[in-house]
Amino acid sequence: MYQNALLIIFECIVYFAAMAALLHFRRKLGLGVFICVLGVFHFLETYLAANLELELLFGLAAVGSVPFFAGKLMMLLALYLEEDASVVRQPIYGLLIGNFLVVGVAALLRLHLVVGESQVDFSFLDQMGALMVWGTLLLYIDALGIILLYEKLRAMGIGVRMLRIFIAGSVMLAFDQLGFFALLKWLYDVGPEVFWGGLVAKIFCAGIYALMLGVFFHSKVRFRLKKPPQGVGDVFQDLTFRERYESLLEHSGLDGLTGALNRDRLDTDLPRFFDAVEKSGESACVAIIDIDYFKQVNDRHGHLAGDEVLKTFAAFFVDRERNDNLRFYRYGGEEFVLVTRGYRRGTAHNRLDALRLELAEAVRAPDGKPVTFSAGVAEYGVDGHDAVSLLKVADMRLYTAKSTGRNRVC
Ligand code: GH3
Ligand code: MG
Ligand code: MG
Repeated sequence: MYQNALLIIFECIVYFAAMAALLHFRRKLGLGVFICVLGVFHFLETYLAANLELELLFGLAAVGSVPFFAGKLMMLLALYLEEDASVVRQPIYGLLIGNFLVVGVAALLRLHLVVGESQVDFSFLDQMGALMVWGTLLLYIDALGIILLYEKLRAMGIGVRMLRIFIAGSVMLAFDQLGFFALLKWLYDVGPEVFWGGLVAKIFCAGIYALMLGVFFHSKVRFRLKKPPQGVGDVFQDLTFRERYESLLEHSGLDGLTGALNRDRLDTDLPRFFDAVEKSGESACVAIIDIDYFKQVNDRHGHLAGDEVLKTFAAFFVDRERNDNLRFYRYGGEEFVLVTRGYRRGTAHNRLDALRLELAEAVRAPDGKPVTFSAGVAEYGVDGHDAVSLLKVADMRLYTAKSTGRNRVC
Protein backbone atom coordinates (compact mmCIF):
# COMPACT_ATOMS: atom_id res chain seq x y z
CA MET A 1 0.00 0.00 0.00
CA TYR A 2 2.77 2.39 1.02
CA GLN A 3 4.69 1.25 -2.00
CA ASN A 4 1.77 2.19 -4.27
CA ALA A 5 1.48 5.65 -2.71
CA LEU A 6 5.20 6.24 -2.99
CA LEU A 7 5.19 5.05 -6.57
CA ILE A 8 2.40 7.48 -7.40
CA ILE A 9 4.46 10.35 -5.95
CA PHE A 10 7.44 9.18 -7.95
CA GLU A 11 5.36 8.96 -11.15
CA CYS A 12 4.12 12.52 -10.58
CA ILE A 13 7.70 13.72 -10.19
CA VAL A 14 8.95 11.92 -13.31
CA TYR A 15 5.99 13.08 -15.41
CA PHE A 16 6.31 16.63 -14.14
CA ALA A 17 10.09 16.80 -14.64
CA ALA A 18 9.75 15.72 -18.26
CA MET A 19 6.78 17.95 -19.09
CA ALA A 20 8.13 20.99 -17.25
CA ALA A 21 11.45 20.66 -19.11
CA LEU A 22 9.64 20.44 -22.47
CA LEU A 23 7.52 23.44 -21.54
CA HIS A 24 10.50 25.45 -20.41
CA PHE A 25 12.52 24.73 -23.57
CA ARG A 26 9.55 25.08 -25.94
CA ARG A 27 11.15 28.01 -27.76
CA LYS A 28 14.15 25.86 -28.66
CA LEU A 29 12.35 22.54 -29.20
CA GLY A 30 9.07 23.83 -30.55
CA LEU A 31 5.78 23.67 -28.71
CA GLY A 32 4.73 20.65 -30.80
CA VAL A 33 7.07 18.40 -28.75
CA PHE A 34 5.34 19.31 -25.49
CA ILE A 35 1.88 18.86 -27.01
CA CYS A 36 2.72 15.51 -28.64
CA VAL A 37 4.10 14.09 -25.39
CA LEU A 38 0.97 15.33 -23.62
CA GLY A 39 -1.12 13.42 -26.19
CA VAL A 40 0.92 10.21 -25.89
CA PHE A 41 0.53 10.20 -22.11
CA HIS A 42 -3.17 10.84 -22.57
CA PHE A 43 -3.33 7.54 -24.45
CA LEU A 44 -1.39 5.67 -21.76
CA GLU A 45 -3.60 7.16 -19.07
CA THR A 46 -6.80 6.13 -20.88
CA TYR A 47 -5.44 2.60 -21.12
CA LEU A 48 -4.43 2.54 -17.45
CA ALA A 49 -7.81 3.89 -16.36
CA ALA A 50 -9.37 0.68 -17.63
CA ASN A 51 -6.70 -1.77 -16.61
CA LEU A 52 -4.72 -0.77 -13.55
CA GLU A 53 -6.42 -0.94 -10.17
CA LEU A 54 -4.27 -0.08 -7.19
CA GLU A 55 -4.80 -0.53 -3.51
CA LEU A 56 -3.98 2.63 -1.65
CA LEU A 57 -4.03 3.68 1.98
CA PHE A 58 -7.61 4.83 1.70
CA GLY A 59 -9.11 1.89 -0.19
CA LEU A 60 -9.18 0.09 -3.46
CA ALA A 61 -9.61 2.12 -6.59
CA ALA A 62 -8.73 2.37 -10.24
CA VAL A 63 -6.16 5.07 -9.60
CA GLY A 64 -3.37 3.84 -11.88
CA SER A 65 -4.15 6.64 -14.29
CA VAL A 66 -4.51 9.42 -11.73
CA PRO A 67 -0.92 10.78 -11.71
CA PHE A 68 -1.06 11.19 -15.48
CA PHE A 69 -4.61 12.49 -15.66
CA ALA A 70 -4.04 15.05 -12.91
CA GLY A 71 -0.66 15.84 -14.47
CA LYS A 72 -2.18 16.51 -17.88
CA LEU A 73 -4.71 18.93 -16.45
CA MET A 74 -2.06 20.73 -14.43
CA MET A 75 0.29 20.94 -17.42
CA LEU A 76 -2.53 22.46 -19.50
CA LEU A 77 -2.86 25.13 -16.82
CA ALA A 78 0.93 25.61 -16.83
CA LEU A 79 0.85 26.00 -20.63
CA TYR A 80 -1.86 28.63 -20.27
CA LEU A 81 0.19 30.51 -17.68
CA GLU A 82 3.28 30.41 -19.89
CA GLU A 83 1.49 31.24 -23.12
CA ASP A 84 -2.18 32.24 -23.33
CA ALA A 85 -5.69 30.99 -24.01
CA SER A 86 -5.25 30.79 -27.78
CA VAL A 87 -2.31 28.38 -27.37
CA VAL A 88 -3.78 26.14 -24.66
CA ARG A 89 -6.93 25.81 -26.74
CA GLN A 90 -4.97 23.78 -29.30
CA PRO A 91 -4.22 20.66 -27.18
CA ILE A 92 -7.64 20.89 -25.49
CA TYR A 93 -9.44 20.74 -28.84
CA GLY A 94 -6.86 18.28 -30.20
CA LEU A 95 -7.54 15.78 -27.39
CA LEU A 96 -11.29 16.22 -27.75
CA ILE A 97 -11.29 15.69 -31.53
CA GLY A 98 -8.69 12.88 -31.31
CA ASN A 99 -10.73 10.89 -28.81
CA PHE A 100 -13.94 11.17 -30.77
CA LEU A 101 -12.06 10.14 -33.89
CA VAL A 102 -10.62 7.06 -32.15
CA VAL A 103 -14.08 5.90 -31.07
CA GLY A 104 -15.46 6.51 -34.56
CA VAL A 105 -12.59 4.79 -36.36
CA ALA A 106 -12.77 1.83 -33.92
CA ALA A 107 -16.36 1.28 -35.03
CA LEU A 108 -15.21 1.35 -38.65
CA LEU A 109 -12.34 -1.09 -38.04
CA ARG A 110 -14.59 -3.97 -37.14
CA LEU A 111 -16.03 -3.93 -40.66
CA HIS A 112 -12.71 -5.37 -41.93
CA LEU A 113 -12.77 -8.96 -43.00
CA VAL A 114 -9.86 -10.38 -41.07
CA VAL A 115 -8.18 -13.63 -42.12
CA GLY A 116 -7.74 -15.93 -39.14
CA GLU A 117 -8.24 -14.68 -35.61
CA SER A 118 -8.30 -10.93 -35.05
CA GLN A 119 -5.33 -9.52 -33.18
CA VAL A 120 -7.15 -6.32 -32.27
CA ASP A 121 -8.71 -6.24 -28.82
CA PHE A 122 -12.10 -4.84 -29.82
CA SER A 123 -13.48 -5.63 -26.39
CA PHE A 124 -11.03 -3.10 -24.98
CA LEU A 125 -12.18 -0.49 -27.45
CA ASP A 126 -15.81 -1.34 -26.68
CA GLN A 127 -15.21 -1.08 -22.98
CA MET A 128 -13.43 2.20 -23.42
CA GLY A 129 -15.83 3.67 -26.00
CA ALA A 130 -18.45 5.12 -23.68
CA LEU A 131 -15.90 6.00 -21.01
CA MET A 132 -13.71 7.73 -23.57
CA VAL A 133 -16.49 9.85 -25.00
CA TRP A 134 -17.75 10.82 -21.57
CA GLY A 135 -14.24 11.24 -20.15
CA THR A 136 -13.25 13.43 -23.08
CA LEU A 137 -16.22 15.70 -22.59
CA LEU A 138 -15.36 15.93 -18.90
CA LEU A 139 -11.73 16.67 -19.74
CA TYR A 140 -12.85 19.46 -22.03
CA ILE A 141 -14.86 21.04 -19.20
CA ASP A 142 -12.02 20.36 -16.70
CA ALA A 143 -9.43 22.05 -18.90
CA LEU A 144 -11.50 25.18 -19.49
CA GLY A 145 -12.70 25.14 -15.87
CA ILE A 146 -9.24 24.99 -14.32
CA ILE A 147 -8.17 28.07 -16.29
CA LEU A 148 -11.34 30.05 -15.55
CA LEU A 149 -11.19 29.10 -11.88
CA TYR A 150 -7.52 30.05 -11.66
CA GLU A 151 -8.31 33.47 -13.11
CA LYS A 152 -11.30 33.85 -10.76
CA LEU A 153 -9.07 33.09 -7.76
CA ARG A 154 -6.55 35.63 -9.01
CA ALA A 155 -9.32 38.23 -9.37
CA MET A 156 -10.49 37.40 -5.83
CA GLY A 157 -7.04 38.43 -4.65
CA ILE A 158 -5.56 35.05 -3.71
CA GLY A 159 -1.96 36.10 -4.08
CA VAL A 160 -0.08 32.81 -3.69
CA ARG A 161 0.21 31.19 -7.08
CA MET A 162 0.79 27.70 -5.65
CA LEU A 163 -2.44 27.98 -3.66
CA ARG A 164 -4.39 29.15 -6.72
CA ILE A 165 -3.07 26.20 -8.71
CA PHE A 166 -3.93 23.76 -5.93
CA ILE A 167 -7.47 25.06 -5.38
CA ALA A 168 -8.28 25.28 -9.10
CA GLY A 169 -6.72 21.83 -9.71
CA SER A 170 -8.41 20.01 -6.86
CA VAL A 171 -11.85 21.55 -7.49
CA MET A 172 -11.76 20.53 -11.16
CA LEU A 173 -10.36 17.06 -10.38
CA ALA A 174 -13.10 16.57 -7.78
CA PHE A 175 -15.65 17.64 -10.38
CA ASP A 176 -14.13 15.19 -12.84
CA GLN A 177 -14.23 12.38 -10.30
CA LEU A 178 -17.90 13.06 -9.64
CA GLY A 179 -18.74 13.03 -13.34
CA PHE A 180 -16.72 9.92 -14.09
CA PHE A 181 -18.03 8.05 -11.09
CA ALA A 182 -21.62 8.78 -12.14
CA LEU A 183 -21.03 6.96 -15.43
CA LEU A 184 -19.15 4.07 -13.79
CA LYS A 185 -21.98 3.62 -11.32
CA TRP A 186 -24.54 3.66 -14.08
CA LEU A 187 -22.61 1.23 -16.30
CA TYR A 188 -21.03 -1.14 -13.78
CA ASP A 189 -22.73 -0.28 -10.48
CA VAL A 190 -19.38 0.30 -8.76
CA GLY A 191 -19.23 0.95 -5.01
CA PRO A 192 -18.53 4.24 -3.20
CA GLU A 193 -14.93 3.19 -2.46
CA VAL A 194 -14.20 3.79 -6.15
CA PHE A 195 -15.39 7.38 -5.80
CA TRP A 196 -13.52 8.13 -2.58
CA GLY A 197 -10.37 6.30 -3.65
CA GLY A 198 -10.18 8.24 -6.91
CA LEU A 199 -11.07 11.54 -5.23
CA VAL A 200 -8.38 11.31 -2.57
CA ALA A 201 -5.81 10.17 -5.14
CA LYS A 202 -6.67 13.08 -7.47
CA ILE A 203 -6.51 15.73 -4.75
CA PHE A 204 -3.31 14.19 -3.45
CA CYS A 205 -1.76 14.44 -6.93
CA ALA A 206 -3.13 18.00 -7.33
CA GLY A 207 -1.20 18.91 -4.17
CA ILE A 208 2.04 17.38 -5.46
CA TYR A 209 1.70 19.09 -8.84
CA ALA A 210 0.76 22.45 -7.30
CA LEU A 211 3.87 22.26 -5.14
CA MET A 212 6.10 21.46 -8.10
CA LEU A 213 4.49 24.08 -10.36
CA GLY A 214 4.83 26.67 -7.59
CA VAL A 215 8.55 25.94 -7.37
CA PHE A 216 8.82 25.88 -11.17
CA PHE A 217 7.29 29.35 -11.62
CA HIS A 218 9.03 30.77 -8.57
CA SER A 219 12.46 29.69 -9.80
CA LYS A 220 11.68 31.14 -13.22
CA VAL A 221 10.86 34.53 -11.71
CA ARG A 222 14.00 34.49 -9.58
CA PHE A 223 16.06 33.44 -12.54
CA ARG A 224 14.66 36.33 -14.51
CA LEU A 225 15.28 38.80 -11.69
CA LYS A 226 18.82 37.60 -11.13
CA LYS A 227 19.88 38.15 -14.72
CA PRO A 228 22.30 41.02 -15.25
CA PRO A 229 20.73 44.22 -16.60
CA GLN A 230 19.87 43.86 -20.26
CA GLY A 231 18.81 46.13 -23.07
CA VAL A 232 15.15 46.96 -23.23
CA GLY A 233 14.72 44.68 -26.24
CA ASP A 234 16.17 41.64 -24.43
CA VAL A 235 14.07 42.17 -21.35
CA PHE A 236 11.02 42.45 -23.55
CA GLN A 237 11.94 39.18 -25.24
CA ASP A 238 12.17 37.52 -21.83
CA LEU A 239 8.67 38.37 -20.72
CA THR A 240 5.99 35.74 -21.06
CA PHE A 241 3.29 36.21 -23.63
CA ARG A 242 0.79 37.23 -20.96
CA GLU A 243 3.07 39.96 -19.65
CA ARG A 244 3.77 41.11 -23.18
CA TYR A 245 0.05 41.19 -23.89
CA GLU A 246 -0.64 43.25 -20.79
CA SER A 247 2.19 45.58 -21.55
CA LEU A 248 0.94 45.94 -25.13
CA LEU A 249 -2.54 46.76 -23.85
CA GLU A 250 -1.08 49.36 -21.57
CA HIS A 251 0.88 51.00 -24.35
CA SER A 252 -1.89 50.78 -26.89
CA GLY A 253 -3.90 53.20 -24.74
CA LEU A 254 -1.45 56.02 -25.43
CA ASP A 255 -1.72 58.74 -28.01
CA GLY A 256 1.07 58.35 -30.56
CA LEU A 257 2.05 62.03 -30.84
CA THR A 258 1.82 63.30 -27.29
CA GLY A 259 2.16 60.18 -25.10
CA ALA A 260 -0.99 61.21 -23.20
CA LEU A 261 -3.69 58.58 -22.67
CA ASN A 262 -5.80 58.39 -25.79
CA ARG A 263 -9.49 58.87 -26.55
CA ASP A 264 -10.27 55.12 -26.55
CA ARG A 265 -8.75 54.89 -23.14
CA LEU A 266 -10.88 57.79 -21.94
CA ASP A 267 -14.00 56.04 -23.19
CA THR A 268 -13.14 52.83 -21.31
CA ASP A 269 -11.69 54.48 -18.19
CA LEU A 270 -14.42 57.00 -17.42
CA PRO A 271 -17.30 54.60 -16.61
CA ARG A 272 -14.99 52.50 -14.41
CA PHE A 273 -13.63 55.62 -12.76
CA PHE A 274 -17.14 56.86 -11.96
CA ASP A 275 -18.10 53.43 -10.57
CA ALA A 276 -15.07 53.57 -8.28
CA VAL A 277 -15.75 57.09 -6.94
CA GLU A 278 -19.43 56.26 -6.52
CA LYS A 279 -18.45 53.34 -4.30
CA SER A 280 -15.76 55.18 -2.37
CA GLY A 281 -17.83 58.37 -1.99
CA GLU A 282 -14.91 60.53 -3.17
CA SER A 283 -15.36 63.69 -5.22
CA ALA A 284 -14.27 63.72 -8.85
CA CYS A 285 -14.09 66.28 -11.64
CA VAL A 286 -13.68 66.24 -15.38
CA ALA A 287 -12.13 69.18 -17.23
CA ILE A 288 -11.88 69.85 -20.96
CA ILE A 289 -8.79 71.85 -21.88
CA ASP A 290 -8.34 73.57 -25.24
CA ILE A 291 -5.18 75.44 -26.27
CA ASP A 292 -5.79 79.09 -27.13
CA TYR A 293 -5.17 80.32 -30.67
CA PHE A 294 -3.40 77.13 -31.59
CA LYS A 295 -4.18 77.58 -35.28
CA GLN A 296 -1.90 80.61 -35.24
CA VAL A 297 1.02 78.46 -34.08
CA ASN A 298 0.49 76.18 -37.06
CA ASP A 299 -0.06 79.05 -39.46
CA ARG A 300 3.01 81.00 -38.34
CA HIS A 301 5.50 78.24 -37.64
CA GLY A 302 4.23 75.24 -39.56
CA HIS A 303 2.48 72.05 -38.59
CA LEU A 304 5.63 70.33 -37.33
CA ALA A 305 6.35 73.17 -34.92
CA GLY A 306 2.69 72.90 -33.85
CA ASP A 307 3.28 69.22 -33.14
CA GLU A 308 6.24 70.07 -30.94
CA VAL A 309 4.15 72.54 -28.94
CA LEU A 310 1.47 69.86 -28.51
CA LYS A 311 4.10 67.39 -27.24
CA THR A 312 5.55 69.86 -24.72
CA PHE A 313 2.08 70.91 -23.63
CA ALA A 314 1.04 67.29 -23.02
CA ALA A 315 4.33 66.43 -21.31
CA PHE A 316 3.68 69.22 -18.80
CA PHE A 317 0.49 67.47 -17.66
CA VAL A 318 1.75 63.90 -18.03
CA ASP A 319 4.63 64.80 -15.68
CA ARG A 320 2.13 65.81 -13.04
CA GLU A 321 -0.17 62.85 -13.57
CA ARG A 322 1.24 60.39 -11.08
CA ASN A 323 1.83 62.77 -8.19
CA ASP A 324 -1.38 64.67 -8.26
CA ASN A 325 -4.20 62.15 -8.60
CA LEU A 326 -4.70 63.29 -12.17
CA ARG A 327 -5.38 61.45 -15.40
CA PHE A 328 -4.62 63.26 -18.61
CA TYR A 329 -6.10 62.27 -21.99
CA ARG A 330 -5.83 63.64 -25.51
CA TYR A 331 -9.45 64.21 -26.47
CA GLY A 332 -8.66 65.12 -30.07
CA GLY A 333 -6.60 67.78 -31.92
CA GLU A 334 -5.40 70.31 -29.34
CA GLU A 335 -8.11 69.42 -26.84
CA PHE A 336 -7.39 67.38 -23.73
CA VAL A 337 -9.37 65.98 -20.83
CA LEU A 338 -8.15 66.06 -17.27
CA VAL A 339 -9.80 63.80 -14.71
CA THR A 340 -9.19 64.51 -11.03
CA ARG A 341 -10.05 62.51 -7.97
CA GLY A 342 -10.58 63.76 -4.44
CA TYR A 343 -11.40 67.40 -5.28
CA ARG A 344 -14.72 69.27 -5.44
CA ARG A 345 -15.15 71.61 -8.39
CA GLY A 346 -13.83 74.68 -6.56
CA THR A 347 -10.54 72.97 -5.67
CA ALA A 348 -10.18 71.39 -9.09
CA HIS A 349 -10.78 74.84 -10.61
CA ASN A 350 -8.08 76.43 -8.41
CA ARG A 351 -5.57 73.67 -9.10
CA LEU A 352 -6.14 73.92 -12.83
CA ASP A 353 -5.82 77.71 -12.65
CA ALA A 354 -2.47 77.32 -10.88
CA LEU A 355 -1.36 74.89 -13.60
CA ARG A 356 -2.45 77.41 -16.23
CA LEU A 357 -0.15 80.06 -14.77
CA GLU A 358 2.70 77.59 -14.37
CA LEU A 359 2.26 76.37 -17.94
CA ALA A 360 2.41 79.87 -19.40
CA GLU A 361 5.92 80.11 -17.93
CA ALA A 362 7.02 76.60 -18.86
CA VAL A 363 5.66 76.07 -22.38
CA ARG A 364 6.25 78.55 -25.17
CA ALA A 365 5.56 78.74 -28.89
CA PRO A 366 8.63 79.00 -31.20
CA ASP A 367 8.33 82.82 -31.15
CA GLY A 368 8.58 82.81 -27.35
CA LYS A 369 4.92 83.62 -26.76
CA PRO A 370 3.45 81.79 -23.76
CA VAL A 371 1.10 78.92 -24.56
CA THR A 372 -2.19 79.35 -22.74
CA PHE A 373 -5.34 77.32 -22.51
CA SER A 374 -8.98 77.65 -21.59
CA ALA A 375 -10.81 75.00 -19.62
CA GLY A 376 -14.26 74.02 -18.39
CA VAL A 377 -14.69 71.92 -15.23
CA ALA A 378 -17.64 69.68 -14.30
CA GLU A 379 -18.11 67.83 -11.03
CA TYR A 380 -19.30 64.24 -10.71
CA GLY A 381 -22.57 63.97 -8.82
CA VAL A 382 -23.31 67.70 -9.17
CA ASP A 383 -23.21 68.26 -12.93
CA GLY A 384 -24.02 64.69 -13.92
CA HIS A 385 -23.42 61.03 -13.19
CA ASP A 386 -21.98 59.79 -16.45
CA ALA A 387 -19.29 60.62 -18.97
CA VAL A 388 -21.59 62.09 -21.61
CA SER A 389 -23.37 64.57 -19.32
CA LEU A 390 -20.20 65.62 -17.50
CA LEU A 391 -18.27 66.19 -20.72
CA LYS A 392 -21.22 68.19 -22.05
CA VAL A 393 -21.23 70.50 -19.03
CA ALA A 394 -17.42 70.82 -19.13
CA ASP A 395 -17.64 71.70 -22.84
CA MET A 396 -20.27 74.38 -22.17
CA ARG A 397 -18.01 75.95 -19.54
CA LEU A 398 -15.04 75.73 -21.91
CA TYR A 399 -17.13 77.68 -24.42
CA THR A 400 -17.81 80.29 -21.72
CA ALA A 401 -14.06 80.50 -20.99
CA LYS A 402 -13.30 81.02 -24.69
CA SER A 403 -16.07 83.57 -25.23
CA THR A 404 -15.10 85.61 -22.18
CA GLY A 405 -11.52 86.20 -23.30
CA ARG A 406 -9.66 82.82 -23.18
CA ASN A 407 -6.72 81.94 -20.88
CA ARG A 408 -9.07 81.05 -18.03
CA VAL A 409 -10.81 78.22 -16.27
CA CYS A 410 -14.62 78.15 -15.84
P1 GH3 B 1 -9.26 78.76 -29.87
O1 GH3 B 1 -8.56 79.64 -28.90
O2 GH3 B 1 -10.62 79.25 -30.22
O3 GH3 B 1 -9.27 77.31 -29.44
O4 GH3 B 1 -8.43 78.85 -31.20
P2 GH3 B 1 -7.67 77.74 -31.96
O5 GH3 B 1 -6.82 78.34 -33.01
O6 GH3 B 1 -6.96 76.85 -31.03
O7 GH3 B 1 -8.89 77.05 -32.64
P3 GH3 B 1 -9.27 75.56 -32.77
O8 GH3 B 1 -9.31 74.93 -31.42
O9 GH3 B 1 -10.54 75.46 -33.55
O10 GH3 B 1 -8.10 74.97 -33.67
C1 GH3 B 1 -7.44 73.84 -33.44
C2 GH3 B 1 -6.33 73.69 -34.41
O11 GH3 B 1 -5.47 72.66 -33.96
C3 GH3 B 1 -6.76 73.31 -35.79
C4 GH3 B 1 -5.85 72.22 -36.22
O12 GH3 B 1 -5.17 72.52 -37.38
C5 GH3 B 1 -4.86 72.12 -35.10
N1 GH3 B 1 -4.49 70.75 -34.82
C6 GH3 B 1 -5.31 69.75 -34.45
N2 GH3 B 1 -4.58 68.61 -34.27
C7 GH3 B 1 -3.28 68.91 -34.53
C8 GH3 B 1 -2.07 68.18 -34.53
O13 GH3 B 1 -2.02 66.97 -34.23
N3 GH3 B 1 -0.93 68.81 -34.84
C9 GH3 B 1 -0.93 70.16 -35.16
N4 GH3 B 1 0.23 70.72 -35.46
N5 GH3 B 1 -2.07 70.86 -35.20
C10 GH3 B 1 -3.23 70.27 -34.88
MG1 MG C 1 -10.01 73.14 -30.34
MG1 MG D 1 -7.94 75.78 -29.51
